[in-house]
Amino acid sequence: MIHRKSREEIKLMKEAGHIVALVHQEMKKVIKPGITTFELDKIAHDIIKDNKAFPTFLGYNGFPATICASVNEQVVHGFPSKDVVLREGDIISVDVGATYKGLVGDSAWTYAVGDIKPEIQTLLEATEKALFAGLSKVKNGALLEDASGAIEDVAKEYNLGIVRQYGGHGVGRNMHEEPFIYNYRTGNNLVLKSGMALAIEPMLNLGVDDVYVLDDDWTVVTKDKKCSAHFEHTVIVTDDGMEITTKL
Ligand code: MG
Ligand code: MG
Repeated sequence: MIHRKSREEIKLMKEAGHIVALVHQEMKKVIKPGITTFELDKIAHDIIKDNKAFPTFLGYNGFPATICASVNEQVVHGFPSKDVVLREGDIISVDVGATYKGLVGDSAWTYAVGDIKPEIQTLLEATEKALFAGLSKVKNGALLEDASGAIEDVAKEYNLGIVRQYGGHGVGRNMHEEPFIYNYRTGNNLVLKSGMALAIEPMLNLGVDDVYVLDDDWTVVTKDKKCSAHFEHTVIVTDDGMEITTKL
């Protein structure tokens, strides 16, 4: 059973999403060679607290930080660290959630650190394009499968790997609710309804699909050590499309 959000819940989800967007606005400004992912985490934490919200990820299944900071071949769930200093040519995926009055916003973005290789720039652009291709299929009465398929089609167009083990999800009072959202076609016949809240989040790789989890039990990395990108928005399904909560 997928919970359709009330008007009041949607209002609060937009507040939560706005705070998440403020974090990303700041990340875009401060991500430069020389900054540590620990510093990024502190900045994100302060913005969320200053806006009377709670960092959703902190303590979630024991996760130790406000953001997931995943550099280069790291796909998702990287730990922020004083030891991780960003260098020219790196990419970093920042995933962040904020809970405001019990409702969650969840959004990820991959940022270039200084100048990056053209093929990596293309990875970023294609993954962002895949996100918006997926979002363009979301509306009342549409199949969730069409959003998954649109993401898959962009990945194929750019010959990118698709992370299979992780994907998007319903979101609301909990960060992870039904349904799970694959980033490729699976034959799912779920019909979207107005008021559903979804986090759509393609994770695409320069190389193979395959990923594995490091010994810290969290950090997901690509098997071939090639770069991975991750773009995510939280949206509310509407009668004629969707509304993004995690933007300014
Ligand atoms: Mg996220
Ligand atoms: Mg998510």
